[in-house]
Amino acid sequence: DGIRLERVREHVWEIPREGEMRVPARVLASESLLERIGDDKTLEQLTNATHLPGMTGQAICMPDGHQGYGFPVGGVGATDAENGCISPGAVGYDINCGVRMMKTNLTYDDVRGREEELVESLFANVPSGLGGGGIVDGDMPTVEAVLDRGVDWALEEGWAVPADLEHCEDEGRRPDADPDAVSQKAKDRGKNQLGSLGSGNHFLEVQRVTDIYRDDVAAAYGLEPDQIVVLIHCGSRGLGHQTCTDYLRKIEQRHDDLLGALPDKELAAAPAGSELAEAYYGAMCACINFAWVNRQLIMHRTRQVFERVFDRSWESMDMQLLYDVAHNIAKREVHEVDGAERKLYVHRKGATRAFPAGHPEVPAAYRDVGQPIIIPGSMGAGSYVLRGGEASMDLTFGSTAHGAGRLMSRTQAKQEFWGETVQDELRDQQQVYVKAQSGATVAEEAPGVYKDVDEVVRVSDELGIGDKVARTYPVCNIKG
Ligand code: 5GP
Ligand code: MN
Ligand code: MN
Repeated sequence: DGIRLERVREHVWEIPREGEMRVPARVLASESLLERIGDDKTLEQLTNATHLPGMTGQAICMPDGHQGYGFPVGGVGATDAENGCISPGAVGYDINCGVRMMKTNLTYDDVRGREEELVESLFANVPSGLGGGGIVDGDMPTVEAVLDRGVDWALEEGWAVPADLEHCEDEGRRPDADPDAVSQKAKDRGKNQLGSLGSGNHFLEVQRVTDIYRDDVAAAYGLEPDQIVVLIHCGSRGLGHQTCTDYLRKIEQRHDDLLGALPDKELAAAPAGSELAEAYYGAMCACINFAWVNRQLIMHRTRQVFERVFDRSWESMDMQLLYDVAHNIAKREVHEVDGAERKLYVHRKGATRAFPAGHPEVPAAYRDVGQPIIIPGSMGAGSYVLRGGEASMDLTFGSTAHGAGRLMSRTQAKQEFWGETVQDELRDQQQVYVKAQSGATVAEEAPGVYKDVDEVVRVSDELGIGDKVARTYPVCNIKG
C-alpha cells in the first residue's frame, strides 16, 4: 500500500515523518510478525494516528497489532494532556477491556479427570453470551455506586477482600471517575450486566503453569510449575460501548474543525482542556471502575464454584488475585520526553501497561520486581505472565502487547473453521475442555485465527519492554 518502513534495529521499524504527520510511527515486531501486520490497514491507521494534535514521541504499534476502529489494536499513542487531545477511538469501544489472573494452590493433578465437571459448573454459574443477566441484580443506585467507587463497592458488598484491592491498578478505583458524565442509556445497558463475560472474544480459562523463565520474579508473583491459575478476560459490556458511541458522536459534532484536519473520521478527538475532553475522561474512568467490578464479581463467583467442586474453602485453596491489567484505556501519566517531564494522555488500545521495578505506580507488593503483565494466547496455545521491563519507559511509554492478536476477521474465521470440530479437536488432541454459548463463537475464536503468541512475547522480551516470567496452558475454558 506504499507505506515504507525503515529498519531502526532488530524488532524496531519506523515510518518516517512526512507531510502532515506530527511525529514518526514505529512498529515493534520481528520480520515474521511484520509480514502479517502489513496484511491489513494497520500501518495506514498508525500513520493516520500521528496526525492527532499533541502526539508525542511516536505512534507505536505493538507486535500483536492489527487494524481496529480508526486506531490500530495493539496501538499506543501519547498525546499532550494540556495542548493535545483525547480520542475515544484510540481507547476502543470496550473501555477497560482487560485480563486478571487468579492463583490457586491446586496442581494439575487435582483438576485432571474433573475438567468437565469444572467447566460445566463454571458455565452454569458465570453469566455469558449476548443475553442479559449478571451476577448482581444492578438497580440504578448500584450502577452509580459501581461507577463511582469501583472495587471499593465490591468490598463493601462482600464481593472482594482487601487483598484483591492491593493487587489491582489504582486499588480498583479510578479517582477521576465522573458517573454523571455517563449517559442514562449507557447505565441502562450496564444495569443487568454486572458480573457477566459477554460474548465473542471474552472468556474465563482455567490454566496450568507449564514454564518458569525468571525464578526470582515468579517467586515474588507466587507462581510455580504445575500450579492451577484462572484467567478472566472481559470489559465494561454495553455500558462502555454506549459511552464510546455517545462521545464519538458528540465530539464529531462539536469539534468538526479538528476532525476536518484528520485523515480519518474514526480518529475524532476532543482538544485537551475542552469540556468534552474532561467529560469523556470522567466517563471513561467511571467505565474503568465498572469493568474492574465486572472482573471482580466473576473472580469471586469463580471462587465459589471451586469451593463447590473441590469441597473446600477458597481461602484454603489460596485463590488470590495476582493482578488485573487493563488493555483498552487512556490515562493521564507523567513521562520524561527529551529530558523534560510531560503530562500526557497515554492511549493504550489493545496494549498493556508495563511499568518496571521501582515505578511509584506499581503496587507495593510488586514494586521491587516490576508490575505483572498478562498476555493471553488462545484457547489452544499458551498464555504468558511477564513483568514490566526496564526499556518500556524509553521505548513505549511503559507499554507492551496485550495478546497474540488476530490474523483474520471473524467472517473469514467462520469460513475457515467449524465450532464443533474445533471443540472436539481441542478435547481429543490437547485435553482442553471448551464450553461456549454458540458454535460460531468457537469458530471465530479458534486458535488458528490468532498470531503466534510465543513470537509476540519473544519480541517483547528481547526489546526489554516486558520480560517473560511464566507460561501457562489451557485446561478448560468458557466463552460467550
Ligand atoms: P482482545 O482483547 O483484543 O479481544 O484479545 C485479547 C487476546 O486474547 C487475543 O489477542 C488473543 O490472543 C487472546 N485470546 C482470545 N481468546 C482466547 C482464549 O480463549 N484463551 C486465551 N488464553 N487467550 C485468548
Ligand atoms: Mn473486550
Ligand atoms: Mn480485550
